[in-house]
Amino acid sequence: MRYTLSITEDLNDRLKNAVFGMVGCEGAAYVVCGVATLTDEIRLLARDIIPVCDEHYLLRQSRRLSIDGRSFVPVAKRAKFEKEAILFVHSHPEDSPHFSNYDDEEDPKLMAFFNARTGQTPHGSLLCLPPDRLKGRIWTTTGWQLIERIRVIGNRFRFFDFDTSKPPLPEFYDRQVRAFGPEIQYLLRRLHVGVVGAGGTGSATVEQLARLGVRVISIFDGKSLATSNVTRVHGATLADAGTPKAVVQETHIKNLGLGTEPYVHSRPITDEDIAKHLRGCDVVFGCTDNHLSRSILTRLALFYLIPVIDMAVKVHSEQQVIRGVWGRVTTLLPGEACLFCHETINPDIIRAETLSVTQREHELAEEYITELATDEPAVITFTTAVAAQAVNELLHRLTGFMGAERTSSEVLLQFHNSRIRTNRMTPKPDCYCQQIQHWGRGDSRNFLGLTW
Ligand SMILES: [Zn+2]
Ligand SMILES: [Zn+2]
Repeated sequence: MRYTLSITEDLNDRLKNAVFGMVGCEGAAYVVCGVATLTDEIRLLARDIIPVCDEHYLLRQSRRLSIDGRSFVPVAKRAKFEKEAILFVHSHPEDSPHFSNYDDEEDPKLMAFFNARTGQTPHGSLLCLPPDRLKGRIWTTTGWQLIERIRVIGNRFRFFDFDTSKPPLPEFYDRQVRAFGPEIQYLLRRLHVGVVGAGGTGSATVEQLARLGVRVISIFDGKSLATSNVTRVHGATLADAGTPKAVVQETHIKNLGLGTEPYVHSRPITDEDIAKHLRGCDVVFGCTDNHLSRSILTRLALFYLIPVIDMAVKVHSEQQVIRGVWGRVTTLLPGEACLFCHETINPDIIRAETLSVTQREHELAEEYITELATDEPAVITFTTAVAAQAVNELLHRLTGFMGAERTSSEVLLQFHNSRIRTNRMTPKPDCYCQQIQHWGRGDSRNFLGLTW
């Protein structure tokens, strides 16, 4: 079993303030986390930071800390009630980048206390190293196990991996390494990226991710390829008609020979057991054309702290003449305006999408709902351009190549008048995405807080 941790930039900043608050002295705090239990990974999802308050330090020196039990009793109480995992965090000076012998003696006692008080595991400890490196371990029945990956997500996506081995990079990445440097190439190699929808934008996204060097790509699409898709689905041939779209992508990227490992889900993410596979991704691209799937991705970003880069294309034609072409790329994260805030998706259409055929016909006849959009005009140049913009958003969050001041979370393309605009909308205070009790909730009785 592999342990990992995800934390938002905002919580990570609060953590740094808590533990580095007194210059020259170590500092401590607790991170309380939701948990996602996957088949090969237990993912801790930071929900809140609880600093150790001044009066609870029995000793606070440059290389030693001692904390009063009154500090951690209420933390254990909260964790038990909320079914959370606890990470005890403390800082070390720069020249002491490892857990000390003293930590190795003291931490297990604290872990035993947390296990006994909460009646659940996992709990662990984190080390904060200046300026902002994190290192962690989980206390298990067989002793310590290292946290293999720590994801810090926000304006930038950063990944701290325990395994920093760097086998020689294949020569075919040479031109990319010249652009971004080898570190990004290694990082892309270690990412697991999900792509929901394997049509026009989805296939263009998969194509670019595979060629960039992302090793693990999970592809989700419940539909089969139609001949009318071939004009814009990368990697598809007319002979593929009738094959599940996700399988078309799998075959294609395997044929590239770049060592990509595709995982294919040929059912829609509106099935709970399929949607649960999204929990294992580091980043997800939303390339679907329906509101219900987009609402699921909106919640995924909140509950599991997984960034979702959602995209869409709209071609408006009248009597077969293009009047306008719009593209949209929106990055979803806790704290950013969601697709409901942007009014990109709406509850009435989501409801209409979930009706059975007979219910829908009835409601259409009664004019309770309007006709759902189907067979919209689509052209490969637009779908591919929007997918490229979306993948560039990922590259920016990984490398920062668009500059530190670039904080927008949405890009709007207007192909018909050669315009690109960006925005960072303030979330609507009464929107579901602002209910912070859901952020980092992880697994719960109702997956994503939905009735499936
Ligand atoms: Zn220490
Ligand atoms: Zn919202």
